[in-house]
Amino acid sequence: MADAKKHILIVEDENDVLELLRFNLTKEGFSVTTATRGEDALKAVGQKRPDLILLDLMLPGISGLEVCRQLKKEPRTSGIPIVMLTAKGEEADIVVGLEVGADDYVTKPFSVKVLVSRIRVILRRQHSSSYDPKTEVHIRDLEISPSRFQVLAKGKAIEGLTLTEFRLLHLLASRPGWVLNRQQILDAVRGEDVAVTERAVDVQMVGLRKKLGARADYIEAVRGVGYRFKDA
Ligand code: CA
Repeated sequence: MADAKKHILIVEDENDVLELLRFNLTKEGFSVTTATRGEDALKAVGQKRPDLILLDLMLPGISGLEVCRQLKKEPRTSGIPIVMLTAKGEEADIVVGLEVGADDYVTKPFSVKVLVSRIRVILRRQHSSSYDPKTEVHIRDLEISPSRFQVLAKGKAIEGLTLTEFRLLHLLASRPGWVLNRQQILDAVRGEDVAVTERAVDVQMVGLRKKLGARADYIEAVRGVGYRFKDA
C-alpha cells in the first residue's frame, strides 16, 4: 500500500499482550510506540500525535477510560481514533468508553488478524472523512439515496419512511459494522424541525425496522450501547 506508515500508540500494561501487539503491528507495516501507564499515554500523545490508539482499560494509575475521556475532550486530540482493549466482564466500561467517545473495542483474548483488519477499516474511514448525510449509500441489497429521499431494496422502493427513520438508516448504513450509541445517533440526525430524545431513538428504530420488513435484521440493537448496521 502506498500510504505512509501509520503510527499506532499501544497502551497496555500486560507485557505479553503488549509485545504480541508490537510484533504483529510492526510486521503489518505500522509504526508502533507503546505506553504502559495512563499518564505516559497522555504524555506520548502530547509529544507525537498517533494515527490511532489501542487502549487497555485496566491500567495502573489513570484508567484507560479516563485517558479516553481526556483525549476525546481535548479538540486537539479528539479526532484520534481509540480502540479499547477490554476483558470479559468489562461490558459496563465498554458502554462508558463508547459514551465518552471511543471508536471501537475488542475483547481479549482477540485474534490479531481481526484486530488488524479493524484497525485498517478505522484508519480508512478516518481518511474518508466524517459522516456526509448527502452521500448515496449502496450496501447489501439496499440503495439509499438522500437526494431522492428513497430507499430501494433490490430495486423496489421501501415505502413510508419518515424523515427521521430515513436519516437513521442512512447514518447506520454509512458506517456498517460500527456501533453507534444513542447520543452519536442523535447528534447526527437531529434537525431543527425534529426534536428527538435518546428514548425516541429507540422508538424510531422500532418503526424503521418494521418498515424494513424482511431486512429488519440488517440493523442490530447492541444491548446497553446503541445500534449497528450489520455489513453481512
Ligand atoms: Ca491491563
